[in-house]
Amino acid sequence: MRTSKYFLPTLREASAEAETVSHQLMLRAGLIRKQASGVYSYLPLGYKILKKVENIIREEMDSAGSLEILGPAIQPAELWKESQRWDEYGDEMFRLKDRHNREFCLGPTHEEIFTDIVRNDLRSYRNLPLSLYQIQSKYRDERRPRFGVMRSREFIMKDGYSFDIDQDGLDLSYDKMFDAYKRILSRLDLKYQVVEADSGNIGGSHSHEFMVISEVGEDDIIYCAECGYAANLEKAVSKITSIKSEEAPKELKQVDTPNASSIDEVADFLNVLPHNIVKARVYTNNERMFVALVKGDQKINETKLNTILDTSLLEPASEEEIKEIKSEAGFTGPLNLKDVTIICDKEVEKMRNFVVGGNKKGVHLINCNIGRDFTPDIIADIRSAKEGESCTRCGEVLSSSKGIEVGHIFKLGTKYSESLNATVLDKDGKEKPLLMGCYGIGVNRLLAAVIEQNHDEDGIIWPKALGPFQVSVIPVNVKKEEQLNLAEDIYDKLKDKFDVIIDDRKERVGVKFKDHELIGVPVQIIVGKNAADNQVEIKYRQSKDKLLLDAEKVVEALD
Ligand code: ATP
Ligand code: MG
Ligand code: MG
Ligand code: MG
Repeated sequence: MRTSKYFLPTLREASAEAETVSHQLMLRAGLIRKQASGVYSYLPLGYKILKKVENIIREEMDSAGSLEILGPAIQPAELWKESQRWDEYGDEMFRLKDRHNREFCLGPTHEEIFTDIVRNDLRSYRNLPLSLYQIQSKYRDERRPRFGVMRSREFIMKDGYSFDIDQDGLDLSYDKMFDAYKRILSRLDLKYQVVEADSGNIGGSHSHEFMVISEVGEDDIIYCAECGYAANLEKAVSKITSIKSEEAPKELKQVDTPNASSIDEVADFLNVLPHNIVKARVYTNNERMFVALVKGDQKINETKLNTILDTSLLEPASEEEIKEIKSEAGFTGPLNLKDVTIICDKEVEKMRNFVVGGNKKGVHLINCNIGRDFTPDIIADIRSAKEGESCTRCGEVLSSSKGIEVGHIFKLGTKYSESLNATVLDKDGKEKPLLMGCYGIGVNRLLAAVIEQNHDEDGIIWPKALGPFQVSVIPVNVKKEEQLNLAEDIYDKLKDKFDVIIDDRKERVGVKFKDHELIGVPVQIIVGKNAADNQVEIKYRQSKDKLLLDAEKVVEALD
């Protein structure tokens, strides 16, 4: 490739709205351009690298036995109505109508579509296990798009879905994906932590998040360096952000897609509330869990948690109670069998002195907002109180860090196969609902996360697997014939063996150097005044080491 023929609009500075290093560098290195809030184009260099990320994911999915398909971005409302998520999904869903007034959405996720595919064409347990995936655009009208492609409104996700006849099968399928995700992140040289997103359930977790360690991460994770226990802490805090007063149920529809929750997390949540709360009711529609805090008989407030508590710790709610809960919350959607009530006196008792120590100034229940009511120092208190705690598994002191959620895997069980009636015949010839798992990884977000972990003041330092070119050849002064000729000569020799770019632009050499550092080509061959002696300089992007070398030795040095 020749720089003179390439489209590489680099910038000295990024726009002020780019808050994170990865956002700034992706703009400056000419990888992306913004089209609208949370909507981006990838330019040639950016798309080239994005495809490398995709291919790593694709290779690992293929080798784990998953089959690639391509679903539609436009999805019919009927499917979402069948699964009862059409109303539930809320404002994050982009909705549209066709010329006949039929309703559709731009898919924020694809459980319904994949379940529909198998329910029509899968008949027998003999065809199981089956694992399908796609790499495709997702659309979510995020309340706050930010950090460039890290939280955008159109983004590419690899989403996969597994189908099994029984729980053992699902467990196996899940473990395979778990391992594949680990391999993907290792191939990208990422430092990451897998966290339990639901630790409450007997027989292991239902859900894991893959967190890339980074200060710009929006999640807090807590982990034990000794035994490897790790969990998402931010949940406890983020629950607080979604406390709302009377209009809660409406507001709740706008919150994120589900994160699992455990009884401990409920307790954690209650923990930061004033200690006069004596009872909490937890109830769920299919997907999300709401907590109504009850003092005596009066509902004080409620917030969102998400599904799946350790039900062994809960008392099922009676018909009466469910009715009451629904009317209290003004909630008209369907509630299912998991509707439960828990009495949390003990938890509250145990917790109430833990963080807040009673009614700390600024802590109250009505219309709580992070920032306003839960100021950064209160949140910091919560974190540090947690951080110093000892691990429940091994007793070592826990540490905490910030993480970027790049992947999320989930055992769905029969949630979608039941609502969409996706069954197969088991070996006794009986219809059985499929057991499903779902597995998501954000392609663009991964790319941004790689940059967050790999850069310096001059630009991006790509891990080996992602470098946009392997080598660049830079003639210092293209007007000097011996320099240009030698550079062209070296370029010719390298181009069959390496992905190489020659910078044949009539630019000042300072500009060229800056560009190659910025876009992060790992090795630069600089052809300058020593060209007269048939010598060139090799410069390594990461270490910045330089080496003077005979031109003949260049190929050898790169091997
Ligand atoms: P978040 O908590 O950051 O909003 P999520 O939990 O809503 O993410 P999932 O539904 O679990 O996301 O989707 C799987 C993966 O898709 C995420 O782990 C993330 O890598 C990616 N992803 C989700 N939302 C976005 C977005 N708005 N922009 C870019 N990538 C995203
Ligand atoms: Mg989300
Ligand atoms: Mg999340
Ligand atoms: Mg998630």
